[in-house]
Amino acid sequence: MIDQPAPFTPLSQVGEWGLIAKLQHIIGPPASPEVVQGIGDDAAVLDIGGPELLLVSTDLLIEGVHFDPTYCPLKYVGYKSIAVNASDIYAMNGTPLAVTVGLAVNEKYSIEAIEAIYTGIQLAAVEYGLSVIGGDTTAAPSGLQIAITVLGQVKKDQVVYRSGAQVNDLICISGDVGSAYAGFMILEREKQVFKTNPGIQPDVVPYEYVVQRQLRPEARKDVIELLAQLNIKPTAMIDLSDGLATAIHSIAHSSQIGAQIYQDRLPIDYQTIRVAEEFEAPATNFGLFGGEDYELLFTLAQADYDKISDHTLFSIIGFVSDVNTGVRLVQSDDTLIDLPLVGWEHFQSK
Ligand SMILES: [Mg+2]
Repeated sequence: MIDQPAPFTPLSQVGEWGLIAKLQHIIGPPASPEVVQGIGDDAAVLDIGGPELLLVSTDLLIEGVHFDPTYCPLKYVGYKSIAVNASDIYAMNGTPLAVTVGLAVNEKYSIEAIEAIYTGIQLAAVEYGLSVIGGDTTAAPSGLQIAITVLGQVKKDQVVYRSGAQVNDLICISGDVGSAYAGFMILEREKQVFKTNPGIQPDVVPYEYVVQRQLRPEARKDVIELLAQLNIKPTAMIDLSDGLATAIHSIAHSSQIGAQIYQDRLPIDYQTIRVAEEFEAPATNFGLFGGEDYELLFTLAQADYDKISDHTLFSIIGFVSDVNTGVRLVQSDDTLIDLPLVGWEHFQSK
C-alpha cells in the first residue's frame, strides 16, 4: 500500500482567524459549566462562584516577531510582555490580579539579560497592580520567547464582551492610533542606517513619542478607571493589538453589526503624521492598519454621549450600523469605501 502524503496547508492560507476557527472546531464547546466565555474574546471568562468573574488570557512575545533585541532593551521587552496582557484584562472591563511567566532562552542570553527582562516585568507588575505568581524557564534552540498568562477579575454585572454592540451605538477610542507603527518604522530605518554605517548613531530623539509607543506601550488602566468614575459601561470593547481596522471587524463579527468610521475623526498624533509624510504614506493607513497601540476601542449607547463628550482622552470615530451595511470608512472627501480587514502582519509586508 502506498501512503498518501500528509496534507499540508500553509498557515498563510487561512490566517490567524481561520486557524482559530479550525482549532475551535477541534476543541468544541466548553465542557465545564463554569466557562462563561471560551475562545473568541480578549480573555476567557469563568464563573467559579462569588460576585466576581475570573478572567484568563495568554500572550506570546517572540524575538524577531514581536520585538527586535537590536533596538529593544530587554527591560522594555519584559515591561511590554506584562502591559499587553494587562491590556486584554482591561478590554473586558476587568482588573488584572496575577501573571505566570514562561521564558525560553538560548545560550546567548546571560543571567544579567534574564534579570533585565524580570526587572521590566516587575516594573509593569507594580504599575498595573498585579503579582508574578510563578512560571517556568527553559533553554530554547533559538532566541527569546516569553509566554504570559494573566488572571483578572470583574464584577459580574460589569463584564464587557466584544459581542454587545447595538445598532446606533457610538464607536469610541482612547488615546491615538498609528503611533506605535510610526515608531516601528523609525526604529527599522535607524537599524538599517546603523547596519550600513556603524559609525552613525541612531537619532530617535525627534521621534521620542512614537518610539516609546512602540518600545514601551502602556495598557489603558486609566481608561477603565475613568469609565467607572463616569458611570459608563461600554456595550462592547476590545484592545488594539492588531490595528484599528481588525478591531472594528472583530466587534462587527462578534456583535453581528456593521460600522461606519470617519477618516477625519481618527485621533492621529502630529508626530505620527510627520513620520507618515517621511515615508510618503497616508497617516490614515498608520492609524487604521498599524498595530500595537493598545488603546481601547469601545461602543457606547448614545444616551451616554454627554458623559464622555468633554473628555479629551476619548474620540468618537463613528457609529454602529446594521449588519448588512458591512464595515465602512467615510473618507475625507465624503466617499464611502469598505474598510479592508487587514492587520499588522499584512501591513508590515507591504
Ligand atoms: Mg486583545
